[in-house]
Amino acid sequence: MSSECWKCGDTAVIHRKYEGKSWCSEHFQEQFESLVKDTVRENDLFENDDRVCVALSGGMDSSALLLFLVELFEDWKNAELIALTVDEGIENYRDESIEIAKELCDDLGVELHIASFKEEFGKSLDEIMEDKDYGCTYCGVLRRWILNKKSRELDADKVATAHNLDDELQSVFMNYLKGDMKRMVRLGAKPAVIDDEKFVPRVKPFRETPEKEIALYGRLRDLELHQTECPYVEDSLRFDVRDFLNEMERKRPSTKFTALRAFDKLLPVLEEKFSEEDPSIRSCEECGEITSGDVCKACQFRKEI
Ligand code: SF4
Repeated sequence: MSSECWKCGDTAVIHRKYEGKSWCSEHFQEQFESLVKDTVRENDLFENDDRVCVALSGGMDSSALLLFLVELFEDWKNAELIALTVDEGIENYRDESIEIAKELCDDLGVELHIASFKEEFGKSLDEIMEDKDYGCTYCGVLRRWILNKKSRELDADKVATAHNLDDELQSVFMNYLKGDMKRMVRLGAKPAVIDDEKFVPRVKPFRETPEKEIALYGRLRDLELHQTECPYVEDSLRFDVRDFLNEMERKRPSTKFTALRAFDKLLPVLEEKFSEEDPSIRSCEECGEITSGDVCKACQFRKEI
């Protein structure tokens, strides 16, 4: 491995095995931003007059996304950015990351909104977990419910999430292992999920960017690192798939990119077969949000808790 940047000869901060090149800090950042811009452009992620809500957890990925979008939108005079943080109510974990999110939004001049489990569901996640260990599935459903409802109330045209290459590929493999082909269609940089005015479309500018490179970019841009792990994180299928993909990438560099490109070739075929307009999409009888049943999953969970 070369310890010098292949472009300028300065000390390298990263060696990318998958392309056989080393990069110094300056050229790595330049190239990182250029690749994310390619994802934005090739997938038409934003319109010039979009009001975009960034799902900001205060973790490195979403902080880096906010910073990247603030700089990208400097040249897009009519586009607007706001940030939304969901506070699940996890002591010594989410409160720390919310402080990071607040400081970052102050520095960048971005309006931050915070929505909490306590306000929406009457209980924090800590209180919910006191009764029973509901695990990440419940938390994820409740968080997505809040994200959609709040971003719509904030008049956002789109929600930008920090899903990266690793997240996306893990989802592809997990859905495949579970045989859930319909969920595959919800993947992609700009998933064509539900065509309904109550649904705020999601976009993923970092979808083709490896997690490790986002972490490096964030460090080089002096973003604060939130190191604490959620106390409720569970040993899930996602972790097994993550370890498998990391091992494959270690042995055969470029596996992740190749697998994502292969999936992208399949996606239009899957969309044609599985995403015909779903006649069962309707309003939840309890909360009015979109659902494919009579009562949405979040309201079913809400009753349980
Ligand atoms: Fe929620 Fe699980 Fe994430 Fe913790 S690790 S915030 S419980 S989804």
